Amino acid sequence: MDISLEIFSPVQQIHHELFKSREVEVFVKRDDMIHPLISGNKWRKLKYLLKKSQAENKSHLVTFGGAFSNHLLATAAAAAKFGFKATGIVRGEEVENDTLFLCKLHGMQLLFTDRDSYRDKPALFEKYFGCDSDAFFIDEGGASAEGAQGCSELVTELDQHFDHIICACGTGTTAAGIINGLQQHAPDTRFNAVPVFKNGEFMREEIDRFLLSPSGYQLHTDYHFGGYSKTKPELIDFIRQFTASTGILIEPIYTGKMFYALFDLIEKGQFKPGSRILAIHTGGLWGILGMRDKF
Ligand SMILES: *Cc1c(COP(=O)(O)O)cnc(C)c1O
Repeated sequence: MDISLEIFSPVQQIHHELFKSREVEVFVKRDDMIHPLISGNKWRKLKYLLKKSQAENKSHLVTFGGAFSNHLLATAAAAAKFGFKATGIVRGEEVENDTLFLCKLHGMQLLFTDRDSYRDKPALFEKYFGCDSDAFFIDEGGASAEGAQGCSELVTELDQHFDHIICACGTGTTAAGIINGLQQHAPDTRFNAVPVFKNGEFMREEIDRFLLSPSGYQLHTDYHFGGYSKTKPELIDFIRQFTASTGILIEPIYTGKMFYALFDLIEKGQFKPGSRILAIHTGGLWGILGMRDKF
C-alpha cells in the first residue's frame, strides 16, 4: 500500500490588538487539519517510519507512550489506515480514558507496564517482541531521524517568507526537522522552540541530535507552567480566550503553552516591528479531553 496522506495544512493569519500595537503579523500553520487523529506533527513523524517498516517487510508497529499520548493514538489510526498491526506499550498501571479507548477502537493492542521497566524501551521491545520478526520498533513520540525528515517537509509547503517560526517541543523531533528544512530552504527564518517540560534547557540536546548542521535557534524555557501536562489557571484562561476569539482550538499540553509563549514574547517586544511570525499548530486536540476538569 502506498503510504501517503494528502497534506491539507493551510496557513491562516490571526488578528489581535496586541499584534497591532507591536506591529507584528501572526500566522498559523494548521497541521491540526491534516487528519483528525493522525494529527499534525504525528503524521509527519510517522511517514518515513511507516515507509521504512514497509520496506523491511515488517507489518507490526510497536510503540510507546503515556496513557494520554497523542503519538499512540496517531500510530493506532495510521496502522489501521495503512494495514499494519499495532501494539502500544503504555506507561503505568492499567487505566481507561478517551485516548486509549480510541487506540483500541483502531485495533491497537495495549500493554501496560510499570514506570521502571518503561524507561528501557529497547529491553521491553526485546522482551515482548524479540521473537516476532514482523515487529518494528518506533520510539516514544516517534523520536527519530526519519521523524525529523518528515517534519522538515513542512518548510517546503510554505509559499511566503516568515521572519520567525515558533513551535512546541516534546521530544524535539519536530523542531529539529523544521530547523533542518529552514537551513535548506529559508535560512533567514529564525526558529523559536518552546519546551513543554520543566528545566527545558535539556531540550537543546534533544533537538541537536537530529540536526543536520548546527543552528542558532532560540529556546524559550519559561512556559512549562509547572511541567509536562501541568497547567495553571492563567494558561486555561488564555486557552479559553484564544479559542473563543480565533475559532482555532488549542489544548493545555502543547499548543496552549506555545501560543501563550508567543503572546508573551510579542508583549515583551521580543520580535522587531514588521516581523511576520508563523506558529505551528501541531494538533493533538484530543489531549484536551484528558484535561477537562481543569476548565
Ligand atoms: C507530540 C506533540 C508535540 C511534540 O512534538 P515533538 O516532535 O515530540 O517535539 C507538539 N505538539 C503536539 C500537539 C503534540 O501532540
